[in-house]
Amino acid sequence: MPDVTFYPEWILALILGAAVGSFLNVVIHRLPLGESVVHPRSRCPSCHTMIAWYDNLPILSWLLLRGRCRACGVSISPRYLLVEVFTAMIALALCVRFGLTLAFALYFAFACALLAVAYIDLDHQIIPDRISLPGIVVGLAFSVTGGWPAMTDALAGALLGGGILLAVAWTYERLTGVEGMGGGDVKLLALIGAFLGWRGVLLTLLLGSLLGSAIGVTLMLARGADRKLAIPFGPFLSLGALATLFWGDSIVRWYISYAGWAGY
Ligand SMILES: [Zn+2]
Repeated sequence: MPDVTFYPEWILALILGAAVGSFLNVVIHRLPLGESVVHPRSRCPSCHTMIAWYDNLPILSWLLLRGRCRACGVSISPRYLLVEVFTAMIALALCVRFGLTLAFALYFAFACALLAVAYIDLDHQIIPDRISLPGIVVGLAFSVTGGWPAMTDALAGALLGGGILLAVAWTYERLTGVEGMGGGDVKLLALIGAFLGWRGVLLTLLLGSLLGSAIGVTLMLARGADRKLAIPFGPFLSLGALATLFWGDSIVRWYISYAGWAGY
């Protein structure tokens, strides 16, 4: 008989992930505006009709209403759906790896913080301290309880992550007289280091920079070279950190074996 004992957990993780994704949409929308993330209930941004609970079910309601407000028919961005689906998939992937454990809860919280930061930075070019600072504390506290990475590694990761970007920002400002990188990026990379350790933070920075350069060059080519084009770094760091969380070990192993094969 096939072993089916895992499946209830996975479904629970999917439902939990979709529900938390729905909450993340509220956080992404309201936190940068300084509004409460619990009150009031959600309203249609266009006609301001309060959204009934049955029209506010994660993923399902958006699909059933085909992305429109029931009252006025204004279209609701597919981004709401995307955030909910993405959060549900992250919860499932973490549950498959860790089960419903403390590690699951903390890495899920970490991933949610990264998602929220990515979208808030994209929309407003800020990374709220209200996410990054408590995140650093939680990451370091987790490592003290015997989580992964080990305490010294988490501390080294936070210091290295914050330190590298601080040095880059300081040097850039010294050379150009222009503030190129916000303090938000510094605290974000410290948060990432607290959860992924010093190797993870370096890989995140590498992946984030590669991705950011690729997208940046593409945008500049598409729009014509505009040196003032400001692209927030937070979304790329967040994506790099998620990739490191899920595939960091494989990427490093692949790199080492490739370098070994190439004779380095
Ligand atoms: Zn409406």
